[in-house]
Amino acid sequence: MGRFAYFEGKFVPVEEANINIQTNSFHYGTAVFEGIRAYWNEEKKQLFGLFVKEHYERMLANCKILNLKVEKSAQELTEITVELLRRCGHREDTYIRPIAYFADLKISPKLIGYKTELAIYTVPLGDYLDLSRGLKAKTASWHRINDTMIPARCKVAGAYVNSAFAKTEALLNGYDEAIMLNPDGTVAEGSGENVFIVRNGKLITTPSASNILEGITRNAVIHLAREELGIEVEERPILRSELYVADEVFYTGTAAQVAPVVQVDHVVIGNGEVGPVTKRLQEIYFSIVKGNNPKYEHWLTPVY
Ligand code: PMP
Repeated sequence: MGRFAYFEGKFVPVEEANINIQTNSFHYGTAVFEGIRAYWNEEKKQLFGLFVKEHYERMLANCKILNLKVEKSAQELTEITVELLRRCGHREDTYIRPIAYFADLKISPKLIGYKTELAIYTVPLGDYLDLSRGLKAKTASWHRINDTMIPARCKVAGAYVNSAFAKTEALLNGYDEAIMLNPDGTVAEGSGENVFIVRNGKLITTPSASNILEGITRNAVIHLAREELGIEVEERPILRSELYVADEVFYTGTAAQVAPVVQVDHVVIGNGEVGPVTKRLQEIYFSIVKGNNPKYEHWLTPVY
């Protein structure tokens, strides 16, 4: 047992998985990555990967946009990930970070003429955002990148400069996380999360055909709200002021999970407590991802 990485075609100790500083994508942010979780079930002594294949399907679609040629299927990448997790032997909740990049030691920002390489590493990760309380979110003064600049649906390294500006501004102002707006003032997403509101008993989130990462957790939560809670879900643009008058606001994301927001800017959301819809979604989400809900076993990949 120890820390391993899958690096350029081989399993190696993580400290040997190093790239040269001249690596092309390191300079231009032209790498596509993913964030996947595996959950440890202490009673069953089992580790479950969550939506592993779906993450690799999204990664391969994004690689297509960037012209990164990962010569493996989502199924093969899933199998490599299971093997990597087994070698690492994690017995706690774990984050999995695959990244595809242009490995040539060459100068010039372009998407052609370079060799693609792939690396995957894993790291223990508990709650990324503090879920023991409601979060405070700040509307960022930085707008979300739009599709004419860097497609937000692409989980591309360079796009996270935009996220880093927004998140840092939120943290420096005493907030937990950012909410980024589109240039037209509608809500886009968090620095690493999609955004939902509850208003008059309805769940509302920004459409997938907008400047957001098409979140896998977002899709799961939409499904659970409709099928398990019987709540109507609407995908439509959300205005900033709708956040303020919402009954509930929450983030979704692989790292963030289902994370309640109880304050946006200067405005307390609802009565300032975690709302009932958010709570129910959290409960069912955690029962599934921890491997305690047989109906949704197909969302999980057993590792051991
Ligand atoms: N938006 C952004 C910008 C993100 O980085 C993430 C995290 N991958 C999400 C949304 C949530 O996506 P997912 O639920 O697939 O993790």
